[in-house]
Amino acid sequence: MKEIGLILGIRPDVIRASKIIKLLSESSDIDFDFIWSGQHYSENMRDVFFNQLNVPVPDYEFNIDIKNDATTVSSIINETYTHLENHKYKAVMFLGDTNTVMGSIAVAQHNIPIVHIEGCMRSYDWRMPEEKYRKTIDHLSDRIYSYLPSYKKQGLNEGISKNIIKVTGNPIVDILEEFKDLFSSGWDYLDENVKQFINDEEFLLVTSHRRENILNKNSLKNIVDLINSSEKKVLFPMGYATQRQIKEFGFNLSDNVLVIDPIGYLEFIYLLKKSQYCISDSGTVVEEACILNIPSIQMRYSTERPEVYEVGSSIKFDPTLEDHKFEEVHSKADSLKNIEWSHPFGDGTSSNVIVEDLIDLSKNNKFHMHSKENYDFDISRSFLQ
Ligand code: UDP
Repeated sequence: MKEIGLILGIRPDVIRASKIIKLLSESSDIDFDFIWSGQHYSENMRDVFFNQLNVPVPDYEFNIDIKNDATTVSSIINETYTHLENHKYKAVMFLGDTNTVMGSIAVAQHNIPIVHIEGCMRSYDWRMPEEKYRKTIDHLSDRIYSYLPSYKKQGLNEGISKNIIKVTGNPIVDILEEFKDLFSSGWDYLDENVKQFINDEEFLLVTSHRRENILNKNSLKNIVDLINSSEKKVLFPMGYATQRQIKEFGFNLSDNVLVIDPIGYLEFIYLLKKSQYCISDSGTVVEEACILNIPSIQMRYSTERPEVYEVGSSIKFDPTLEDHKFEEVHSKADSLKNIEWSHPFGDGTSSNVIVEDLIDLSKNNKFHMHSKENYDFDISRSFLQ
């Protein structure tokens, strides 16, 4: 039996967990398997991150049907279930709030302890499938790693035991720290047309991929109008689903916007650091911008990362609203350019804290955390002999 099976499936999972994967691979105390669920599969959404961040390639890859969310989730559950019939682990670990974490249902069916990294984040917006996924896996979990004390509090408010939630800091801080000397090489990975486009001029960096934004014509129109209203150059590494939607709705981006396919991590962070500010609906990009002291415009009607507003690194832009004053949004972001804030995401030791805890739980056979003692209220009625 191995100690841990780690199941990941999308671009930001590899980035955020890259140090955890390396520490687990190097540890003589933990034998672990890295399993790829198959949600992201192309070279520039997956392999480039394994290469650039020196992540060992997955030991196993699921064969899933990504036709829609239902087929994706059901095939991940199916593949996880079958995998666990043939491979034994003390615990199976997931990260985040994607279709992949729903594989935890198969882990629960095998009654194997579940570990959740990024636990107890909440947007309290019940319209988001991600909110439902987060809540489900947190309530199935035996061990939860929450990035911040405020996230732990959110879990406690739902009756999750304080003993199973451990506050760790956010591992994205570790990654930005670990690779800090390499980001300058990001320039070398950029295509010639991008280099010429930037050409030492001021520019904004944009990403947008959220379904609630790109599938809604009105929201995507507002996003396009916000981008088109920039007086500066705009570089937009655009995910494939967004490219399809822009085409389908017949929207045009102005001449000062350069759209490119998604790019690797070193070049993305290189560009983020060089940008005047970024405009994004990505959870991770607004965190990275906050940590690197780059202002952001967060294109979300609700967020599970309110800290970026609280520390003053981000401006809210709600794409669902009408009658935006686009110039005002840009000038607010501009005005943050020379302001410094302290980011709240931790000290860069999160991956170590997580791996040390996993080793401790494994050595002491403590993965099954749901014992009577872990309830913060009296459950003795259920256990009367
Ligand atoms: N990213 C990248 N290349 C790109 C766009 C983003 O490497 O072309 C990185 C970015 O730095 C961040 C992560 O991908 O670490 C964000 O992924 P995404 O927005 O897809 O997911 P989310 O964070 O919203 O879950």
